[in-house]
Amino acid sequence: MMDYNRILNQRISAVPPSGIRKFFDLMEDMPDAISLGIGEPDFLTPWHIRDAGIYSLEKGKTRYSPNAGFSELRRQIAAYLKRRFDLTYDPMHELLVTVGGSEGLDLALRCILEPGDEVIVPTPSFVCYGPLVSMSMGVPVYVETRAEDEFRLTPELLRAAITPKTKVLVLPYPCNPTGGVMERADLEAIAGVLEGTDIMVISDEIYAELTYGGLHHVSIANIPGMRERTLLVNGFSKCYSMTGWRLGYLCGPHELIGSILKLHQYGIMSAPTTSQYAAIEALEHGDEDIEAMKAEYDGRRRFLLQGFRDMGLECFEPRGAFYMFPCIRSTGLDSDAFCEKLLLSEQVAAIPGSAFGPGGEGFIRCCYATSMRELAEALERIEHFIKHR
Ligand code: PMP
Repeated sequence: MMDYNRILNQRISAVPPSGIRKFFDLMEDMPDAISLGIGEPDFLTPWHIRDAGIYSLEKGKTRYSPNAGFSELRRQIAAYLKRRFDLTYDPMHELLVTVGGSEGLDLALRCILEPGDEVIVPTPSFVCYGPLVSMSMGVPVYVETRAEDEFRLTPELLRAAITPKTKVLVLPYPCNPTGGVMERADLEAIAGVLEGTDIMVISDEIYAELTYGGLHHVSIANIPGMRERTLLVNGFSKCYSMTGWRLGYLCGPHELIGSILKLHQYGIMSAPTTSQYAAIEALEHGDEDIEAMKAEYDGRRRFLLQGFRDMGLECFEPRGAFYMFPCIRSTGLDSDAFCEKLLLSEQVAAIPGSAFGPGGEGFIRCCYATSMRELAEALERIEHFIKHR
């Protein structure tokens, strides 16, 4: 008999399974449950974007692309970043097309980290950061952000977490699961702490397009002195509803992108060709789609926020992404018990805040990328649960 425990890489075995999975497994047996659990747009990819993918196949575009992605797509991404966020990246040397933002995060970490390097990860945040750091031989250092700061990373929290081993700060804003954002002044304060250090920032800006209330996303790469120490991760999944196309990109100083390209080239070859053709169309003609989806999310966001407040759950107003993070401490349940009982008794799925790292306990993540009708029904059921459990 093979002893696979001895064969498996210990770092990989030591990574715990995601706290989100358990709920998806439970939900499999409940086809009628309303899901506020999955962090993915409910819209389909706009037709003209799908068409561009289909058309590329009809024309026989079925081969690999250049390792870094088609140059036309890279040019379009660079133009988009300039137009939307006033960021300047050389499409040929400072930009790499990846398999989703996920690959971008993985590559960015793997290209920088040496065994034992510390990576500061503000939490509650996306479940991937810590495990990706560990699997890249690094050590995640979780920094608990607070509801009273709307889950921003403050300069004080950052300063207290830095040690001589700190190599990277992950900056996860707009934030999954809290919906929190960092505005220019917040980012300037972070930049002030990093000034004079060798710490790199991996900025996950996958929700950059989804900000509300007149707020426009600011990239940390746009703060003076920060571009040279930032690797920017973004992608097509959220803003164009293209999760299944698996396409994203990574931008940064060309010295780093050149090395990262080696990881990508040997491990992946190139991002999916069909998806790249669709993405060119998205960037060229998709601005209105973003606006339309965003307006819809915004309506749902305000509706859900009011609903939670009306039933007495405390909730700060999230201004980014498509998540709400109400506090459920008043129910006396911890977030895991709350979500499990809610799912079993009312068939509504939300994700326990504890799944998103320190600082998440006492909250639940509700994704509002679902129809108004379902949101209204979910609110009624949650209220019923709170009153009658
Ligand atoms: N970052 C964050 C914060 C996310 O929520 C997600 C998707 N849930 C990703 C990155 C990865 O997205 P993708 O790989 O689909 O681009």
